[in-house]
Amino acid sequence: MSSDQSWKEKYFQELEVAEHREAHWKAERNSLERMLVRTCLASEGQAPDLDRLLARVRSDLRKNKVEVDSWKELQEQIDLQVALLDDVPARNDNNRPALAVEAVSDSKLVAETMHEAELPNDAPDVGSQSQRLRIARRVGHLLGQLLSQVSLEPEAEKRARNLQRALLSSDNWDELRDGLNQVADLIVAAVTRSQREFEAFLKRLDKRLEALQDHFSAQSSAQSGRQAAAETLDRNIREEIKLVGRHIEASDDLQDLKQSVSRHLEFIGQAVGRFRVEETEREKMLSEQLLAVQEKVAVMEAHSERMLGQVRKERERAMTDLLTQLPNREAWQERLSFEFNRWKRYQYPLTVGVLDIDLFKRVNDSYGHKAGDRVLQLVAREIKHRLRNTDFAARFGGEEFVLLFPATLPDAALVVMDKLRAHISALPFHFGGDPVTITFSAGLAGFAPVDTEETVFDRADRALYSAKNEGRNCVKISPTPS
Ligand code: GH3
Ligand code: MG
Ligand code: MG
Repeated sequence: MSSDQSWKEKYFQELEVAEHREAHWKAERNSLERMLVRTCLASEGQAPDLDRLLARVRSDLRKNKVEVDSWKELQEQIDLQVALLDDVPARNDNNRPALAVEAVSDSKLVAETMHEAELPNDAPDVGSQSQRLRIARRVGHLLGQLLSQVSLEPEAEKRARNLQRALLSSDNWDELRDGLNQVADLIVAAVTRSQREFEAFLKRLDKRLEALQDHFSAQSSAQSGRQAAAETLDRNIREEIKLVGRHIEASDDLQDLKQSVSRHLEFIGQAVGRFRVEETEREKMLSEQLLAVQEKVAVMEAHSERMLGQVRKERERAMTDLLTQLPNREAWQERLSFEFNRWKRYQYPLTVGVLDIDLFKRVNDSYGHKAGDRVLQLVAREIKHRLRNTDFAARFGGEEFVLLFPATLPDAALVVMDKLRAHISALPFHFGGDPVTITFSAGLAGFAPVDTEETVFDRADRALYSAKNEGRNCVKISPTPS
């Protein structure tokens, strides 16, 4: 091999290694980004300001807009918010005012929609004390929603109600901080309680099954007792008949013979009588046992049914979004997997949609978080009412909703989505006297043979962002990969 050749070979080897490494980095970055998006979603709901920052992280990631400097600032703002949550004194860098983070002006306006009654005013934002109180109010509000969803012991329920009242009305932060800790305890108590109930149920079930087993073994020993008794009777009768036969052969005295035969007959009669009595007793015992078993089975069935109903209800609660009452992200994942597997098997078309409310931050900033919440509830209601029964919609998080259209091509789903879009953009929302138009943008993607649940979702997401880039209030279809 010439030196030139070996040099070339080395160069290609190096190149291959470098390419491999780059692909690895890309994949790593991709999965880190995905994880970050999910972590942001999972962290939502602690405080409105923190939610807004997390939503910006997600939105930057999606738009591929990660700039080191602006992210450094973003990170500092997040730190500040997290510090506020933990009640740790915030860092005082660059004389930044303690709450310069996109202060929300929901104090000024009373929000109201055409459908619903007036919403209460929030307290004005003056400094961190009132910011904390706002968080406490929000937790109080959430606690109320939570209480309607979980079952607590009466004592804990009372404690939770008092706590909720305190969170909604007290203005002493230390008191409220204790309150927040208690909320955490209550939730843990609610969860452990249903676990305990389930455990107790399993224990009871186990005991009942044990009792049933005892009954069955008693029955089978009674059965073998009966067989033994029948055999004894049979043996006795044969024995007696044999004896009678021998007597007849040996005897020449008729009187003697008569007496012997009647003695034997009497013996046989007694044996049959005894057998009958025993048999009746055995039957009585068996039918009593049977009745007892039947009753036990009936009780067990009723209990299992109740337990099953309870488990079903708990599961439904765990799969429902509190604010909008739409299925939540867990429910979405489950349904997506289900439809994905059906699609793999039957190969009918399947379309995924991602819907995001336009400039929603402005609604929150101008009219307050509660107005934002009402918008989310109303949009969710419209989505629910306007989709077909076989379609599926869930709240993915924040102001994002996800949709599944089984047996539907993207073009047909586009017609449905566009009608929904036109309908929502025409709804007469009013906040504090201002007419406000709410619109959304959406992306659609159809499953293609190369797709997984994730790739198709990512394509729908990208289509959504191209809808945003083209001016919002529109629905875009992602090109299907070949
Ligand atoms: P775009 O059109 O680009 O989607 O703009 P946007 O303002 O809707 O998007 P961005 O992601 O910047 O902001 C979304 C906002 O949604 C920020 C966050 O505070 C708000 N939000 C998320 N969850 C909730 C919620 O449960 N209730 C309310 N009221 N607001 C929420
Ligand atoms: Mg969004
Ligand atoms: Mg949005």
